[in-house]
Parts: sequence; structure tokens; C-alpha cells
Amino acid sequence: MEDRCTICGASLELGHGAPVMAHEGLTFRFCSLECLKIFKAFPEAYTHEEETELKSVEDTSP
Ligand SMILES: [Zn+2]
Repeated sequence: MEDRCTICGASLELGHGAPVMAHEGLTFRFCSLECLKIFKAFPEAYTHEEETELKSVEDTSP
């Protein structure tokens, strides 16, 4: 699993001190406080993707 900014996808260096936020049991990393602000404003926009993926997998099975 690569360390990338949840918002803009910029690659993050380990130990860089990038902002981190725990949300619904998951840890999200960000390249800057600006991206962290965006996530705080619209967390669902960035957490829904995985949920939709899981649901679609469940839906395809009978
Ligand atoms: Zn970013």
C-alpha cells in the first residue's frame, strides 16, 4: 500500500511528518494541511469509493 495524499494523490515520504487523520477506523494521510482541510470538509467524498467497491462485489454474488 503506497503512501499517497488522500486528496490529490501526491506521493508521501515516510517520516515526512505529513498530516494524518483517523476516520471510521481508517488512517488517511495528506501532503499538506490544505488537503487535510478538504478532507475534513467532505470526508464522505473520499471514503465512499472503497465502500462502493465492496458493495458492488457483494451485489454481483447471488
Ligand atoms: Zn495533497
